[in-house]
Amino acid sequence: DRGLMWFRRDLRAEDNAALHHALKSCRQVWCVFVFDTEILDPLVERGLTADRRVEFIRESLVELDQRLRAIGQAHGHPDTGLIVRHARARDEIPAVAARLGVQAVFANHDDDPAAKHRDAHVLGALAHAGIMFHGHKDHVVFERREVLTQAGGVFGVFTPYKNAWLKQIREEHLKPWPVEALGAALAPLPGPPGGEWNHPVPRLSDIDFEPTNLSAMALPTGASGAHRLFESFVERIDRYHEARDFPAIKGPSYLSVHLRFGTISIRQVAAVAWQMHLQGIQGASVWLSELIWRDFYHQILANHPHVVERAFKPEYDRIRFEHGKHAKELFAAWCEGRTGYPIVDAAMAQINQTGYMHNRLRMVVASFLVKDLGLHWHWGEQYFADHLIDYDLAANNGGWQWASSSGCDAQPYFRIFNPVSQSEKFDPQGRFIRRYLPQLAGLPDNCIHAPWQARELELLAGGVTLGSTYPRPVVDHAEARERTLQRYAVVKKPG
Ligand code: FAD
Repeated sequence: DRGLMWFRRDLRAEDNAALHHALKSCRQVWCVFVFDTEILDPLVERGLTADRRVEFIRESLVELDQRLRAIGQAHGHPDTGLIVRHARARDEIPAVAARLGVQAVFANHDDDPAAKHRDAHVLGALAHAGIMFHGHKDHVVFERREVLTQAGGVFGVFTPYKNAWLKQIREEHLKPWPVEALGAALAPLPGPPGGEWNHPVPRLSDIDFEPTNLSAMALPTGASGAHRLFESFVERIDRYHEARDFPAIKGPSYLSVHLRFGTISIRQVAAVAWQMHLQGIQGASVWLSELIWRDFYHQILANHPHVVERAFKPEYDRIRFEHGKHAKELFAAWCEGRTGYPIVDAAMAQINQTGYMHNRLRMVVASFLVKDLGLHWHWGEQYFADHLIDYDLAANNGGWQWASSSGCDAQPYFRIFNPVSQSEKFDPQGRFIRRYLPQLAGLPDNCIHAPWQARELELLAGGVTLGSTYPRPVVDHAEARERTLQRYAVVKKPG
């Protein structure tokens, strides 16, 4: 009864379903993480070697390794820790399992189609060697087909899903899977320190990546970082519903990257939010709703994996988006934050400089790409996938399909965000804009949302020269709106 715990999007040694079950059912458990070359090599080939996610993972693994050592030590096992490999995970896991002579591999579910494909391969190779593969639910509260309609179908609309989720939830769904008390089963790392199995977590350069600006940002890594963020968020959670839409204020939790990589347990945060929701604290209810959106999009991806390639609603695949040279120029302007719409450009500066973007702004820039620039949502989805530190296929695809109206429970296609009124409403004094576009900081509040409408004198006083210090708008919103309504008219036609 030896086991191998394979960490993926669950980088913590507390309240971890697979780790709990491994420690409980095996006498000796090794822990492994693989920097998967199948994921990383394409980034290296595309020259994307400064990736905040890779650095975030690396920093979080250092802490996980220390934590596993401390838990082992507390049980009188001094040489425990994390085995870290840099290889193709689908081959490496069966190889490590065989060399360590384990009878079972434990991992938490990952319903990303590429991960499922990888896991099926691993399961096959393990089975061939007579080794078991145990998967556990850990990443979401309810997964796959756990919340269903009365007729037994998968929900495609959020509000009824949320109501069913809230009806179904019990304390037992949120109870932690303890780890520390079971630490006696942690096995010593094989071989001498510094040997093949027993060495510190590799440096970024060892896996062909470079440092990013992550350490300069106010984004703490690892389980300890997640706890700090969560504690500080709980102090302001009662104001979440009022503050969450204003990008200039510290409204949201900033936990998305931690939930993505599992440096904090979804059960732990959902349990706190649920208890406060039951006490009638409105901010907590609204935040809990966001966590339910997360479950919702994960079950959509698990049950409708076609959304990765195609529209959730097939008729939306008929829409013809712009392409060709001009479309590419518009796309470059969007990516680089030079569309001439300050709220869009400031938001793109935020993602480019930090890897994070405020939720309200994700909706604004996504709508702008699809419905003002007329570009395919896949283009924006891919850009977010490359740049977001919290990139998650389920949530990102859900967000883009929502904005392009092609998704389940999406924004109706004729509802088109006006980037100027969004800016006036959610960044009224232009505080966010000024932070990310210092070249516009001198403009008065009433000009900052649409500088092309300002009087020459106001621009001059603000030190702004349109077309030189700041671009003119690349499209006219009213005209773009008409084009979009025409473009989308095909969804109404049969066939
Ligand atoms: P909070 O407001 O504190 O919310 C708490 C948590 O709830 C988040 O950390 C997240 O895990 C979850 N959550 C919140 N909103 C959503 C949502 N709409 N869908 C699913 N989960 C949600 N979120 C990602 O985690 N990864 C992505 O790649 C991603 N891409 C997006 C793309 C677009 C076009 C849009 C419109 C939204 C996207 N979101 C994505 C959802 C949302 O914008 C982020 O989760 C949120 O901004 C993260 O900040 P926070 O942790 O401070 O959020």
